[in-house]
Amino acid sequence: MRDMVRETILRREDLIMPYFVAETGSEDMVKPIETMPGQNQLGMKALLERVSRAVDNGLKSCILFGIPKEKDPMGSSGYAEDGVVQRALRELKKRFPGLVLITDVCLCEYTSHGHCGVLTEDGHVLNDPTLTLLAKAAVSHVQAGADIVAPSDMMDGRVAAIRTALDEHGYETTPIMSYAVKYASAYYGPFREAAESAPKAGDRKSYQMDPGNWREALREAAADVAEGADFLMVKPAGPYLDIIRLVRNNFDLPLAAYQVSGEYSVIKAAAQLGWMDHDTVMMESLLAIKRAGADLILSYFTEGVLERL
Ligand SMILES: [Zn+2]
Repeated sequence: MRDMVRETILRREDLIMPYFVAETGSEDMVKPIETMPGQNQLGMKALLERVSRAVDNGLKSCILFGIPKEKDPMGSSGYAEDGVVQRALRELKKRFPGLVLITDVCLCEYTSHGHCGVLTEDGHVLNDPTLTLLAKAAVSHVQAGADIVAPSDMMDGRVAAIRTALDEHGYETTPIMSYAVKYASAYYGPFREAAESAPKAGDRKSYQMDPGNWREALREAAADVAEGADFLMVKPAGPYLDIIRLVRNNFDLPLAAYQVSGEYSVIKAAAQLGWMDHDTVMMESLLAIKRAGADLILSYFTEGVLERL
């Protein structure tokens, strides 16, 4: 009877799997990310194998993060035609035409200093010159096969800049999933090992949100809606369920939430210590995010959940 009256149900279609595709090793590379047990940096061939298995299990969508061979202060490998993400998109699109391909649009994986934008000589992030480069990255992703672009940089005006650039290149129908409400969270710690994107100096507090703020979440989301966002995202997810609910109640766009690396790793670590039951907590953590109002969840548990559903 409980099944008949359950209000929230997790579906395969709700889940988006993040993948880290790397050109720092061989095509077969599966390099475990120590701080995220079960997650790996993948060479191109290894990525295709991994995705193929997940698609067989019902994977609907994935989001790609790139780990390039070369980094420079302008993050130019992030918008190169033969960049690692661009190459992965072409391969994935060819083999899995039904898989919805999302790309993370930011510069921090590609800049030698690890910040999400270009810097002044004294190390400040320059907002407007960064917009041009983000727009270039987004266009290059769509040209290579991305179905949705997801800017995560938190520069002001980026959604409008990307929308304009996509339209100019004839991609009027390609949606933008905006990391609209992104907190400066310590839960991102393990990801920075995964994506090798930790800032060399300073932090990202000048362009990410203060964890104590909720009204600001409404302002950030409203700005991105006005600029043309098609999906909104809240990040992290689990520690910010109130924010997910707040955004859900105030905006009617599809809402995604990102269950970030730290949320994943605390569950993995506690389960390894035998302190919590892995699968039960995994499912509950995702159900809670959905109950709070998320339509879509980006989660490193996706492959594992697909095996269970
Ligand atoms: Zn970034």
